Amino acid sequence: MALFNKHLLSLLLTLAATQAVHAVDYVVTNTAPTTAGGARFNNEIGADYSRQTLASATDFIWRTFQQTNPADRKNVQKVSLFVDDMDGVAYSSNNEIHASARYIGSYSGDLKREITGVLYHEMTHIWQWNGNGQTPGGLIEGIADFVRLKANYAPSHWVQPGQGDRWDQGYDVTARFLDYLNSLRNGFVAELNKKMRTGYSANYFVELLGKNVDQLWRDYKAKYGKSSMLA
Ligand SMILES: [Zn+2]
Repeated sequence: MALFNKHLLSLLLTLAATQAVHAVDYVVTNTAPTTAGGARFNNEIGADYSRQTLASATDFIWRTFQQTNPADRKNVQKVSLFVDDMDGVAYSSNNEIHASARYIGSYSGDLKREITGVLYHEMTHIWQWNGNGQTPGGLIEGIADFVRLKANYAPSHWVQPGQGDRWDQGYDVTARFLDYLNSLRNGFVAELNKKMRTGYSANYFVELLGKNVDQLWRDYKAKYGKSSMLA
């Protein structure tokens, strides 16, 4: 019996070690706790909720990108969130997300929902492929907002489907367009992201949907009628 337990323990330790190799660490640091926004972060959001949200966002993004196998994903072991005394809303670089304490301090509305949506957007930047730096910035931002949209964290001030001037305008405009393209081919955004692992070509749209992106944009605008083209 003792021998059995020893083997069982060793098996469990091996399993735990295997999981540890694949798990992502999330570290949250509030560098502005004495500012109004930094204090509001601690009171209304907090490090625990932020870590849970980062983990949930990662799972959601892997599912949205159809990356069931770890080999399909970027090799990231640790993501750090900093709440900083800075302008703007948030940005990400080098597996770090920086969120603005000033924005948190001045936001009116459902702060927790807003910051959750911001974290989904920024976490998408951590995991998405960027075509070795060749993917247009508007498409990068559109995919991040597409993920936020599919996670049901789109803010009410976003453009409606069919609005916008260019397919690569970025953010909500491109996210709505990608949502339309995804309705034409289920998993389109996941497949586009997979193709961007090594580079970028406008021809990816043709390969996946049989039409170039300018024609797809015209189809999209036409679907939502002339009224949306007046502006
Ligand atoms: Zn972004």
